[in-house]
Amino acid sequence: MSDHKTDSVLERITANSAEVGKGFTVRRAIPTKARRMVGAWCFLDHVGPANFDRGNGMNVGPHPHIGLQTFTWVIEGEILHRDSLGYEQIIRPGQVNLMTAGNGITHAEESLNDDAGRIHITQLWIALPEAERHREPDFKHYPDLPIINNGGFKITLLAGTAFNLTAPAQVYTPLVGMDLKSENAAKTDVPLNPDFEHAVLCLDGAVEIEGELIEPGTLLYIGPGRHSVSITCNKAAQALLIGGKPFEENILMWWNFVARTPEEVIRAAEAWNKHQHFSEVKNSPLKRLVAPDPSGLHLKI
Ligand code: MN
Repeated sequence: MSDHKTDSVLERITANSAEVGKGFTVRRAIPTKARRMVGAWCFLDHVGPANFDRGNGMNVGPHPHIGLQTFTWVIEGEILHRDSLGYEQIIRPGQVNLMTAGNGITHAEESLNDDAGRIHITQLWIALPEAERHREPDFKHYPDLPIINNGGFKITLLAGTAFNLTAPAQVYTPLVGMDLKSENAAKTDVPLNPDFEHAVLCLDGAVEIEGELIEPGTLLYIGPGRHSVSITCNKAAQALLIGGKPFEENILMWWNFVARTPEEVIRAAEAWNKHQHFSEVKNSPLKRLVAPDPSGLHLKI
């Protein structure tokens, strides 16, 4: 009977916190100086929970992406996604939007109306590997996800395979994502792929992972080599667990682009600002964003 515990790395990472727009707190857990990626997950923003006043909901005007998938998981609130492929999709709590940028897509994210409301979402990016990053863009909405009740946690499988279930999200590298939520004290052991690195972000309350207590604003990185992880809470709490096979390609992330070279990023930024290459989002009432000047990029890296 083997009950071997591996001593894989546990690393506490403080998210970068910023107030954006009209008073939403956004905690950027990835990338940080401490860690650029977890598997192919290369970006993780935790927005809210926040109440907003009339006319002050989340609105992000049309902007482009290349080389990545955007992965939106809504906990509270509703957002309308519009993109240059013509998709218009409202996303609600418990649902995932997955947009594959590939060689280029444009999208906007809008509040449904001007009413006051509440928002709590996570937005992640997944870097596409070399063989897939130039593919045609695509958009998928997943309204129904596999749910496991285990040890008092309601576990929603967002991506990949766990507990012998597989999430429908179409991804291009081995990875996993799940949301764990409990209204009371709970304890579960989550099976992990030992080839993956993982990280847990606390979304609400406090959770303890292998003895490390984390609250919103802290990401706990878990190095490869672990077959399971224990997650507990003493009262209502929610956490996001992500993981994946360590990404072996060096990526260059700049503004909304995931690329490999400065030339590629400069080309994409200039094309966007000149209204070339990228198709437009139709019917968005929001103003098209402008790419920052990438000319210093060669110097910064
Ligand atoms: Mn975007």
